[in-house]
Amino acid sequence: MTGLPMLNHWIDGRASIDAPPRAGVLTDPATGARTGRVAFAEPADVDRAVASAATAATRWASTSLARRATVLFAFRHLLATRAGELVDIVVAEHGKVADDAAGEIARALENVDYACGAAGLLQGGFTENASTGVDVHSIRQPLGVVGVISPFNFPVMVPMWFVANAIACGNAVVLKPSEKDPTASNWLAALWREAGLPDGVLNVVHGDKVAVDVLLEHPGVAAISFVGSTPIARYVYETATRHGKRVQALGGAKNHMVVLPDADLDLAADAAVSGGFGSAGERCMAVSVVVAVDPVGDDLVAKIVERMAGLVMGDGRDTASDLGPLVTAAHRDRVAAYLEAGVEAGAKLVVDGREHAVNGPVGGFWLGPTLFDQVGTDMSIYTDEIFGPVLAIVRVPDFAAAVELVNRNPYGNGTAIFTRDGGAARRYGNEVEVGMVGVNVPVPVPVAQYSFGGWKDSLFGDTHAYGPEGIHFFTRTKVITSRWPDSIGAGLAMAFPSSD
Ligand code: NAD
Repeated sequence: MTGLPMLNHWIDGRASIDAPPRAGVLTDPATGARTGRVAFAEPADVDRAVASAATAATRWASTSLARRATVLFAFRHLLATRAGELVDIVVAEHGKVADDAAGEIARALENVDYACGAAGLLQGGFTENASTGVDVHSIRQPLGVVGVISPFNFPVMVPMWFVANAIACGNAVVLKPSEKDPTASNWLAALWREAGLPDGVLNVVHGDKVAVDVLLEHPGVAAISFVGSTPIARYVYETATRHGKRVQALGGAKNHMVVLPDADLDLAADAAVSGGFGSAGERCMAVSVVVAVDPVGDDLVAKIVERMAGLVMGDGRDTASDLGPLVTAAHRDRVAAYLEAGVEAGAKLVVDGREHAVNGPVGGFWLGPTLFDQVGTDMSIYTDEIFGPVLAIVRVPDFAAAVELVNRNPYGNGTAIFTRDGGAARRYGNEVEVGMVGVNVPVPVPVAQYSFGGWKDSLFGDTHAYGPEGIHFFTRTKVITSRWPDSIGAGLAMAFPSSD
């Protein structure tokens, strides 16, 4: 293992060269081969990154918006031009298929596009003569150093949800990516440098809970943006807020796709299969439960099964592949255990993913698409976020029962309704307690001009990610009330100031 290349922290504009006392192993999920090692930060490494960011933040905050925009546009151009290199990195460490990796990079670019408009987004307000001779204006200022902690399933898009806006707003960032696929973060940090970002404005520390805990408690860190599973999101929110930080912590999901009897069933079946098994189900917006409203169940299941049979599971580098392996052997085994649990609980195993043909190396972390029908809401395959290619069908008698089911679920990330009835779709959008809703759209990830966030156990904190709420999160408002000597009448004014 010692011969494997070591991915080290990126601090102050360069990769660290010290041999780390602890390191993780990187694997190629399609082959199972060990491909590298990643340094695990000690508290001193995080301290160094925060110190570098703090120094850089002061200078960066006073850098003009025009200059910041120049860097953002240059980064945008470099990322678009060299996206192919990044696709290869993502596929090799995450395992998703190449066009799915290209899709996440396209979504990351959208967020950079949005951040390029920071000069307009950061405009304040001005009120002339709010009181006699008194003007009031508001400005938005950066927070300082912000920590970003990201999950394995979007190693490019999720960091860019936060990094682009945080930097555009004048902050410096310490990013702690997932230890499972961390290489993309160093590649991006080097690209930002090439685009002209000053050293220290973006630092990357690698590792596990040790690094995360230092960020959550560090007095030099003003805010934390986290994305990951619900138990860790809750822990991050509670710990970081206790240490006085502004926090947005996005958690896990169980996304329901409701199919009404009047829906276009071919469209719905296509959506269930692409939304459920795209990226091997390792998406926080994946469809994990199809809610079939009577009497649509049997026809819908038949159409889904028909489509599942044609899915090619193989190496993400192979353009024939529809879905790749799961991210690690341990995760594959965890997901596979739900197949046993579902059968034991009495659900009907319609398609068993363990029997799906593997079009890839034997050592890969494979598990094919699986479909359960007649799933009960007390079964672990319904209650737990499985985060793999396992789709559950729950049958309900009518629209009201569907809404009630979705609203009773503790998660509230995404949901979709399939129908031809505009009134039903409107009512669903109005009544459902979920942050992001699709109408005949299975994976309703908002475009960058809106913000991304779930409700209930899918998000801790009150600010969604990116878009307008991202700009809000990464700045704080200051209101300045002023008057100038030539408009001031002489004399004391001891009463509480009023506007007259
Ligand atoms: P995870 O919670 O295991 O890890 C997320 C991050 O937290 C990683 O950087 C990891 O190193 C760190 N971490 C893990 N355990 C920790 C601990 N005990 N203490 C401190 N830090 C810890 O999540 P994952 O497996 O990398 O990603 C998949 C999860 O992320 C799924 O639950 C998925 O739904 C969720 N997710 C949510 C969204 C969203 O926007 N809501 C988006 C993508 C992924």
